[in-house]
Amino acid sequence: MLYIGSHTSYLKDKQLLGVLEESLSYGSNTFMFYTGSNQSTLRFPIDHTLRDKAHSLMKENNIDKEKCIVHAPFIINLANNSDERKYNFYIDFLKQELDRCIELDIRNLVLHPGSYTTLTREEGIKNIANGLNIALKDKENVNLLLEYMSGKGTEVGSSINDLKGIIDLLNDDVKNKVFVCLDTCHMNDSGVDIKDIDKFLDEFDEKIGINKIKCIHINDSYNPVASHKDRHANLGYGTIGFDNLINVIYNKRLDDIPKILETPWINRNEKDTWAPYKYEIEMIRKKEFVDYINL
Ligand code: FE
Ligand code: FE
Ligand code: ZN
Repeated sequence: MLYIGSHTSYLKDKQLLGVLEESLSYGSNTFMFYTGSNQSTLRFPIDHTLRDKAHSLMKENNIDKEKCIVHAPFIINLANNSDERKYNFYIDFLKQELDRCIELDIRNLVLHPGSYTTLTREEGIKNIANGLNIALKDKENVNLLLEYMSGKGTEVGSSINDLKGIIDLLNDDVKNKVFVCLDTCHMNDSGVDIKDIDKFLDEFDEKIGINKIKCIHINDSYNPVASHKDRHANLGYGTIGFDNLINVIYNKRLDDIPKILETPWINRNEKDTWAPYKYEIEMIRKKEFVDYINL
């Protein structure tokens, strides 16, 4: 079955209910959101009335909460522990994010693995695994999804081997809670030819296991393969192209895995700014590209 949705806004006054209303307006049957700003650790309490209303609306609309996603803020960096106080703060904040997922009953949290900066890649991998071992130790019924990254700067997680390296160092009771979130823009920018998705999936299956893929971010890219840039483009307006993205979305091996759009809003001018997701989701369902931005 196709599970398709997009990034949505989680705002203080509407919270999960607002996320759901926005998703339904795009024709989505899954969604992703940050529990606050994606750049900061400022968070406000969860309103249980809004949460419960959202969950009953999800039931009415056949939206499976198991397919819905929360994204942790970018600032968490588990790869570098040279400032011990900061490293511990990030682990502690990650624990709080996992608790918020449990409280919201949306139990899949995507995390950028982090950047090793002044250390080495190997040290980065060790630090991430150690951080996850601590953060996930006492957490039950919640999944952490490591995102496949573009390899910008010193990012860890921009290859199958990086992700395997982290997973291999996890304790047994933590390993079964850790999964992977692919991202077509990041894969392209890291050096994967999306045209050859099956070749990539063969290697992923051999080294990690396809059953570990729990989410896929569907984005076109403004940059060529192996550019290590990470600039998301609207579907069909980038270097990957609409047909190659459709082949990922409908790949039999990736069936039932939620696909989340993180493409940029259309911004013609101050007054003409809008989300592309309703159009992109319709094109995906019809498997047909329409030049809606220039219509
Ligand atoms: Fe991400
Ligand atoms: Fe992403
Ligand atoms: Zn990205």
